[in-house]
Amino acid sequence: MWTDPWIPDHPPRPPRARTHLPSNTPTTPTHGPAVLKNKVWKTKTPAKLKHFLWRLLSRSLATANNLKRCHITQNDQCRRCCSEVETEDHIFFECPYAKRIWRTSGISNLIISNPSSTLEEKIDACLQCSLSTRLSHMQYLPFWLLWRLWKSRNMSIFQQKEIH
Ligand SMILES: [Zn+2]
Repeated sequence: MWTDPWIPDHPPRPPRARTHLPSNTPTTPTHGPAVLKNKVWKTKTPAKLKHFLWRLLSRSLATANNLKRCHITQNDQCRRCCSEVETEDHIFFECPYAKRIWRTSGISNLIISNPSSTLEEKIDACLQCSLSTRLSHMQYLPFWLLWRLWKSRNMSIFQQKEIH
């Protein structure tokens, strides 16, 4: 059967652009870890969560460091701790606020808590945690925590208030 190598097997629709960041639409060869993206895309999570994780792995979320790289802002500091550059890894895993969320979630994973793990390794560990649990209400909890960290970060910036 003829296949077009430029079209991925399971192309998600790109999320609606909400920033001026260049969009990494998956209609071209995907940027970032394609294997991990495909694994995430095959999970039984809501579409909004898949889109979010896709953008996270594509490094296309409007984090401060991405905005600075695109000359949209000068300030690339984390608004929560004000001591580190706001990268994806910082927001979701390394910021003291994020660390506290992971600690209290009861999810114990050496890769997720290891600062020298890459973002991709941590997301993959989240996926493994999700798939290994037998408790249906715990499935995909790590992904929902990532989503919640992103939402609360946005609310704290755009509404100028801390969400705990
Ligand atoms: Zn921080």
